Amino acid sequence: MTKLTPDTRKTLSRRTRMILAGRNPEEQFGFLNTPIYRGSTVLYPNAEALSHGQRFTYGTKGTPTTEALEAAWSELAGAAGTVLAPSGLAAITVAMLAAVKAGDHILVTDSAYRPTRTFCDSFLLKMGVETQYYDPALKGEIAELIRPNTSVIVVEAPGSQSFEMQDIPAISEAAHARGVCVIMDNTWATPFFFPPHERGVDMAVEAGTKYLSGHSDMLMGLVSANAAWFPKLRATYDIFAMCPGAEDVFLALRGLRSMELRLREAEKQGLALAQWMTTRPEVKDVLHPALPSHPGHAIWKRDFSGSSGLFSVILHPAPRAAVHAMLDGLELFGLGYSWGGYESLVIPFDCAPYRTATTWAPGGPALRFQVGNEDLVDLQADLERGFARLKAAM
Ligand SMILES: *Cc1c(COP(=O)(O)O)cnc(C)c1O
Repeated sequence: MTKLTPDTRKTLSRRTRMILAGRNPEEQFGFLNTPIYRGSTVLYPNAEALSHGQRFTYGTKGTPTTEALEAAWSELAGAAGTVLAPSGLAAITVAMLAAVKAGDHILVTDSAYRPTRTFCDSFLLKMGVETQYYDPALKGEIAELIRPNTSVIVVEAPGSQSFEMQDIPAISEAAHARGVCVIMDNTWATPFFFPPHERGVDMAVEAGTKYLSGHSDMLMGLVSANAAWFPKLRATYDIFAMCPGAEDVFLALRGLRSMELRLREAEKQGLALAQWMTTRPEVKDVLHPALPSHPGHAIWKRDFSGSSGLFSVILHPAPRAAVHAMLDGLELFGLGYSWGGYESLVIPFDCAPYRTATTWAPGGPALRFQVGNEDLVDLQADLERGFARLKAAM
């Protein structure tokens, strides 16, 4: 195998680059994959070197394993740099802490992942940061909410559970005109389907727990940043030393090699099940941005290049007990949080109790589906039996 020349590297498509990214067999005795480096102490060759530093200095500052995943993710996201975290939620907090200080005001979409809200309403409040929630439908008009002390706008598209789309380029333009940092939770689309930094996002968070893992067997968070924000992100990260374990970093890097293929299948399975749901008499509404009936479809089509296997449905009004009868008897869909794995899951949800800038009133019980790799025919049969239980219990 001839060594890849810089000229050839420049011509490569993303698919090929994701096969090469984050590994350097020459440094690993020829072994294809960067192995798991476990370690705290790194030895220095002499006393003088202790004060000059070297490529690797201490376990919390990075290892060849963490460096490989960071480099690969930066390449995928089109970022200046990436930091890793032990969970998606930890990644959200380190990104936000890199950009706020006491006395700041921040704008957070009302459709944000709920634990993000909890972080804002408890920890950031205690630190003297004021959070204002805004309607995810706002585009450039978000400029009217920006105050002299606004430091961050948090976006998430589609909205957690509720699937509202956001006009991220328009929001980013308004934010940057006033020097405000845009932080996005990009877990649903991943950089494969939404290139965050190309669209104006300064720091993009990914819960690697979901599609990067793909197997529901690990937790991981990543924050990629553009050149303006990466130094601040890295400095904040270093203060907390919020580093994930070496085995999980290795698994994440392993997952990256097949992530696009798995996402393409998740997209197919998710869309097919969502389309089937639109034909069901029990279903009032299907919340999937790739369906033309979705209010955010035009934005999805303009800014995203694909959809993942997570969507929600709104049932026609039914008593709680009937919905529980439907869910409790499911044989293939597990009842559980998280998503992005090989197995199908469903959860009931209700955003009404915590929304403050918008009203969540979908007109019936809401269910969120994660579509796994099972055969669709089997999944539909499981749901058909579920719908029969729903009807019988009405
Ligand atoms: C799961 C999830 C997270 C958090 O990831 P964890 O690794 O479970 O902490 C963040 N954002 C979104 C949208 C998620 O679905």
